[in-house]
Amino acid sequence: MTDTVTDRFLRYVVIDTQSDAKSPSQPSTAKQLTLGRILVEELLEIGITDAHLDEHGYVYATIPANSGKNNVPVICLCAHMDTAPDFSGSNVKPQLIRNYQGGDITLPGDKQRVIRVSEHPELKNQHGNDIITSDGTTLLGADDKAGLAEIVTAAQILLNSPDIKHGAIRILFTPDEEIARGVEKADLKKLGADFGYTLDGETAGTVEDETFSADSVEIAITGVAIHPGFAFGRMENAIRIAGAIVDRLPKDMAPESTQGKQGFIHPTGISGAMEKASISLIIRDFTDEGLTTKETLLEDIVRDVMKSYPGSSYRFTVTQQYRNMKNVLDQNPQVVDNAMEAVRRAGMTPVRGSIRGGTDGSRLSFMGLPCPNIFAGGHAFHSPLEWVSSQDMGKAVDTIIELAKIWEERA
Ligand SMILES: [Zn+2]
Repeated sequence: MTDTVTDRFLRYVVIDTQSDAKSPSQPSTAKQLTLGRILVEELLEIGITDAHLDEHGYVYATIPANSGKNNVPVICLCAHMDTAPDFSGSNVKPQLIRNYQGGDITLPGDKQRVIRVSEHPELKNQHGNDIITSDGTTLLGADDKAGLAEIVTAAQILLNSPDIKHGAIRILFTPDEEIARGVEKADLKKLGADFGYTLDGETAGTVEDETFSADSVEIAITGVAIHPGFAFGRMENAIRIAGAIVDRLPKDMAPESTQGKQGFIHPTGISGAMEKASISLIIRDFTDEGLTTKETLLEDIVRDVMKSYPGSSYRFTVTQQYRNMKNVLDQNPQVVDNAMEAVRRAGMTPVRGSIRGGTDGSRLSFMGLPCPNIFAGGHAFHSPLEWVSSQDMGKAVDTIIELAKIWEERA
């Protein structure tokens, strides 16, 4: 078996590992276990003797320390095995464009699908690189099979390089990240790591130390149902009430109208009949105050709409989803500092970023494992236009090696 980061990547993407939010099982889809088994085999083959797949679908493995120092923190490298339910991940046919010379990339399986430079400006930094795409009929799965390939490749290099000194490094591959259940059954005690890194970001050089803070809101409306023939002056149709609420949501506070550090209120589901209707929403912001402000604004809208429906009532339920990991990472500044330095030593200019979403790392950070996100090199996640270059994956491998060295050196 060949073992460059690209070889590994191409082996992993053809395995369908799409997760399924509707499935109650763990992992949500059994097909994720197929990749888990392959990863364990490959880790055993490169000499990691404790690599195994547990009953919940997690892969654990240890690169033993080879440093004379006994105070080097144990770091964990984490990536997820599943791909997003948003787009098909079955029968992925990766295309390798060697020595890319610029220009738009038309995907061979569906000529309507074009990766345009105007929409993917990162392509401008890829001249001469080898770019991998899908054929346009599926997603590629660089999110996050690039991360898996980079970690396994870095592990092999570390194992074969006794001169590179490092502490113990734990590997954790998770299922079901895309459906927000990626760390639900992760055993942090067994993992025994002090700090972690997910390899699940995009552009080369980026280290992300912020995620959204996230709540969900459920608005349950009870109207006044009555036969339409006798409805005059009495009916209060819950469907109309729900519609009025959605209509009043601020249009400048939507995912499609916000960016950077702005948060949003986003309806994700609506269902109902005359008697009862419900609206599901997600609220996102980088600060807790921002979340509260948006939730107050939302409930004010509901209350105001309900004024026209005196016989009706509503229930407004807020559920916490996850919190901005910066709250935790700021208390452990060396975790991000070391990652920034590793990027620099791997020959890039580090860029600190924030994620308009969550990662396994944001959950892990609050479970006691501070865990920023390092680039894995992929772009246009969750879409048939997803792409990654071999060279950027190579840079991620270099970054991991430098990171291992830095933790040892600074212990
Ligand atoms: Zn991901």
